[in-house]
Amino acid sequence: MAEFRIDHLGIAVRDLDKARMFYELLGMQVGPSEEVVHEQVRAAMIQTGESRIELLEPLGEDSVIGRFLDRRGEGLHHVALQVDDIADVFAEMKVAGMRLVSDALNIGAGGQLYFFVHPSSTGGVLIEICQSAEVVA
Ligand code: ZN
Repeated sequence: MAEFRIDHLGIAVRDLDKARMFYELLGMQVGPSEEVVHEQVRAAMIQTGESRIELLEPLGEDSVIGRFLDRRGEGLHHVALQVDDIADVFAEMKVAGMRLVSDALNIGAGGQLYFFVHPSSTGGVLIEICQSAEVVA
């Protein structure tokens, strides 16, 4: 059985620079913002012990985060669970008929592998399964 831990919580915001102020006020370190062009977002990570908070600002209204903000407003967008054997987990999810957002693993910033499981398969929350790049190498 795979071991999981919460890697990060993804929070959709309209204005990243405004949103980061809250965390900075708490004295937390907010990393530099980074554009992830294929996901159409500008993101910044906040380290919280073993886990992180990911702030997500849309790069366009017709992006995934842009549409989420239109429908639901700002708030929790996804929960990311980290595993060491993402390929196995991906295969198991497919066999079990879970609704996956992509047909293959995606490669994110720093070589991290990830995929999303649709909220209709998880009890209402978009779940990101990810594996850090060090484990792959
Ligand atoms: Zn994420």
